[in-house]
Amino acid sequence: MTPAAPSPSAAPSPALTDRFQRRHNYLRISVTDRCNLRCAYCMPAAGLVWRERAEILSYEEIGRLAQLFVRLGVDRIRLTGGEPTMRRNLPVLIEQLRALPGLRTLLMSTNGVLLAPHAARYRAAGLDGLNVSLDTLRPDRFVQLTRRDEHANVLAGLAAALAAGFPAVKLNVVVMRGINEDELVDFAAFAARQPLEVRFIEFMPFDRNEWSADRLVPYAEMRARIEAAFTLSPLDPAPHAVAKEFAIAGGAGRLGFVTSMTEHFCTDCNRLRLTADGKLKSCLFSTTETDLRTPLRAGASDAELTALIRQCLLGKWAGHPPMAELAELDNRAMIQIGG
Ligand code: SAM
Ligand code: SF4
Repeated sequence: MTPAAPSPSAAPSPALTDRFQRRHNYLRISVTDRCNLRCAYCMPAAGLVWRERAEILSYEEIGRLAQLFVRLGVDRIRLTGGEPTMRRNLPVLIEQLRALPGLRTLLMSTNGVLLAPHAARYRAAGLDGLNVSLDTLRPDRFVQLTRRDEHANVLAGLAAALAAGFPAVKLNVVVMRGINEDELVDFAAFAARQPLEVRFIEFMPFDRNEWSADRLVPYAEMRARIEAAFTLSPLDPAPHAVAKEFAIAGGAGRLGFVTSMTEHFCTDCNRLRLTADGKLKSCLFSTTETDLRTPLRAGASDAELTALIRQCLLGKWAGHPPMAELAELDNRAMIQIGG
């Protein structure tokens, strides 16, 4: 059965409402579990097995699921990974998703390594915004953090993203004690100089990612350290915002803080995640997953897939467990989920 496509203004289907009346309109789609960097906080140093190509959803399969999710009320999609720019012919997928009636915003998270030659093409294909990840402004430290010598390419990618005219460019910085916490003020100065948002992200625990409570730099501390050097004024929160955002007095850009560990935002969560191998996760930290790939490949109808999606959502918890428990959960590595 193929449901009729609703007009963009149609009310979202109740299928994406969970037991706590949270409506889910934001889908993060991982397009690959592979990456050209080796960030220790995202992936184990050894023992990670890449999925076989046949296990990864094709663009046609991603398109079919995305179309269904949009019909059910998703109006915001983020492409992620692994490193999404490693997927061949990515603009084809961007164009395919952009054409979905009802999709308002199409975003991507990238490490920026391959961005410089492609940023304008991604923009032309219909991408609305980019988050570029960069945890240090120091080339030597970048090599230690990512085990690859690509700092200059990331900076070039960021510059290309700004030049390509994306309405929103954000720089994601995972802050870790004893690793890059001494660059908080440098990053704030970086944001003050150019029209982008630097987003400081609290370090989260995942499978074998060297997380410990000692390594977490809490939001309150990050903010206090930056406010010793800059005057920040809070900006009005956007609906379902994951970051607390601030203007920098006299600055071109702004700052955001993603406080998943010390002030989680689960009560307002509107996000779902589709892994590169076709599993639906109702939370970044959920230990259960709903397999959509197998039924999809077996010819499931939209109604059957919708029932599975609904079942997944009904299992969503009110909020994720406290951080000490998160570190013990049997979850995937971040690289295999998609941030
Ligand atoms: N490769 C792309 C990138 O690096 O932006 C997309 C995938 S990456 C998993 C998405 C985001 O997750 C990045 O901004 C990365 O810094 C963040 N991330 C990965 N591991 C994390 C962790 N343990 N805690 C907080 N953020 C993390
Ligand atoms: Fe790759 Fe992004 Fe994970 Fe770093 S954070 S290993 S760039 S997926």
